[in-house]
Amino acid sequence: MTLDTPVTEFPGIGPARAVKLEKLNIRCAGDLLTAFPRDYEDRRALYPIQDAPVGQKVCIRAMVAERPRLARIRRGMDLVKVKVVDATGTLYLTFFNQSYVEKALHPGEEYIFFAALEEREHRRAMVNPLFEPVGRRQATGCIVPVYHLTEGISSHLMASLTRQALDRCGDQLAETLPQSVRLEHQLAQVAFAYENIHFPASPEALDAARRRLTFEELFYLSIGLASLKNRRDQGGPAVPIAPAPVDDFAALLPFPLTGAQRRTMEEIATDLTAGRPMNRLVQGDVGSGKTMTAAYAVWLAARSGLQAALMAPTEVLAQQHFKTLAPLMAQLGVDTVLLTGSMGAAARRDARERLALGSARLAIGTHALLSEGVEFRALGLVVTDEQHRFGVAQRSALAAKAQAGGIPAPHVLVMSATPIPRTLALIIYGDLDVSVLDELPPGRTPIETFVVGEDKRQRMYGFVRKLVGEGRQAYIVCPAVEENTGEDPAGGPVLDLKAVTVYAKRLQEEVFPQLRVGLLHGKMRPREKESVMSAFAAGALDILVSTTVIEVGVDVPNAALMVVENPERFGLSQLHQLRGRVGRGKHQSYCVLITGSHSAAALQRLKVLAKTTDGFKISEEDLRLRGPGDFFGSRQHGLPTLHVADLSGDLRTLTQAQQAAQALLEADPGLELPEHQPVRARVRELFRDTPDIFN
Ligand code: ADP
Ligand code: MG
Repeated sequence: MTLDTPVTEFPGIGPARAVKLEKLNIRCAGDLLTAFPRDYEDRRALYPIQDAPVGQKVCIRAMVAERPRLARIRRGMDLVKVKVVDATGTLYLTFFNQSYVEKALHPGEEYIFFAALEEREHRRAMVNPLFEPVGRRQATGCIVPVYHLTEGISSHLMASLTRQALDRCGDQLAETLPQSVRLEHQLAQVAFAYENIHFPASPEALDAARRRLTFEELFYLSIGLASLKNRRDQGGPAVPIAPAPVDDFAALLPFPLTGAQRRTMEEIATDLTAGRPMNRLVQGDVGSGKTMTAAYAVWLAARSGLQAALMAPTEVLAQQHFKTLAPLMAQLGVDTVLLTGSMGAAARRDARERLALGSARLAIGTHALLSEGVEFRALGLVVTDEQHRFGVAQRSALAAKAQAGGIPAPHVLVMSATPIPRTLALIIYGDLDVSVLDELPPGRTPIETFVVGEDKRQRMYGFVRKLVGEGRQAYIVCPAVEENTGEDPAGGPVLDLKAVTVYAKRLQEEVFPQLRVGLLHGKMRPREKESVMSAFAAGALDILVSTTVIEVGVDVPNAALMVVENPERFGLSQLHQLRGRVGRGKHQSYCVLITGSHSAAALQRLKVLAKTTDGFKISEEDLRLRGPGDFFGSRQHGLPTLHVADLSGDLRTLTQAQQAAQALLEADPGLELPEHQPVRARVRELFRDTPDIFN
């Protein structure tokens, strides 16, 4: 048998079962070995019959005391009964519809039985226990793997197939990690790792196996990402852009730049004038002033005769960018057009014409920018805002528009307000250079945040009235099914849009009859959304009840209160984003998280927000508490799937793997040495969707 032997050659695996295994991506022996358990059950403890805890699943070692008795109780139903004993007592076993047990259990021999222990009328009993001879230790008396399953495939079957695969071709697993790396980082050998990730000899052996496999996965990932980056750095020529001092740009702004903005702009200028395409992520907390850094890039491109496109994930945000940037760009002699789905045909045609002619140098818009018929004369810079909302495919669709205009590789700038822990950013945005805006413009008073229970609801309403009385505005955000998601990520019940609508109506009619309450949600038509948003921005509404559509980028400086209903449904980073909608003006701002949850963990999590306003700290905490799913899930990152590595728990291993990868690439940049061929092959396999990773 080899690693490529199909599963149908395993005993008991016919075509029907093979189809089911295929659902688990298991086609051959090798696939079995890499289908790692999702959990383990520790069945090492062996109990004497009388001392075993009743009501729990336990292993009991006992001797068969009599010949098993088979009885047919009715058509299609039989049962086998047998008594087993040890020094402490008797255990009564019953097997339903397993007539083979009659011949499989031999009187006078010892077995280990595993099942939930029951006790009736002082008799200890088990129903349908799993059993095996003492000494085999595959399902009892050991740590047992628990596999991902599908209907018709039990964990027991998976374990048995995997055992056979390991026994028959486990020795064909080649060691791919260079010996030097393995020794330096004290990593287990490959055979040990695969044996113990499936059938751990002990918890320590499992740790060692997992660490080796995690390291290995992150090591290949790091090598692949570094290679992508290297390739880009040596990549084709970029459209030339002439440098111009940041100060010339800054002179036109009504405020001085923050140090972080200046540093980021300088990094952008270096990229743009280096002769290769820029690929930069600007990461910064809400309100850190990312837009200006992009504006600087747009200005540089425009001065060199190039066009730029700024794509935002929502209509509201695109309009907002247009409002702030168009006047500034006009001062700089750059003509800007807006392109969104809700615009009338005439306005759209006009915008398209100016882009095709090249008279408009900046296009701001939504996905509408990607639609057919939108052509650029010389698109040299692509900026996407809140990148995690866009797939890789959309980024390349914009790049294709540049190519149509004869520019093979436009510069790319990505802005993200989701601060991501540095280590994770290296993975998620591994192929981008990263600038961090870790400084807010001066003069902002930190937002005060409160976590309150339902019992404070009336006080919260009172607080809304008080602030509105002082001339401020408030947001009230409810979790609800939104246009793109369709489901609640936390899996809990969410308000449907109808409920949000009803809630808004109730607030208007019963709670705030004197105030002006508006409603904004994702299912509204773009034009309606725009009119509600502008009404709020213009101060014509006091309270905006909203789903999370306002999460992204909206800027109303007079809004000083953010109330979030059911905040436990959101990730901390998302709540932090929501909170960032206030505190944008000169007024003291507040965020009230009102929760009906009594879960200590949920409350503790929410309190993190009350304690800090540093988005990076919050995201580290989110990562620690909820794992990386939130960060990965929100973006089609186009990176390989990780099988063992758990980025929340394995950050230390990640750092080590990154260092090892770097060291290896420094010694042998193209992985050409013969001893590095196995590494090269594994990286290629991991990045099979990027076939030219080493070119
Ligand atoms: P974000 O990083 O969230 O996208 P914006 O770019 O929207 O932040 O900036 C938030 C607000 O701060 C805007 O009103 C912008 O005009 C203002 N702003 C940007 N940079 C500065 C600065 N250096 N000093 C003062 N205000 C600034
Ligand atoms: Mg922004």
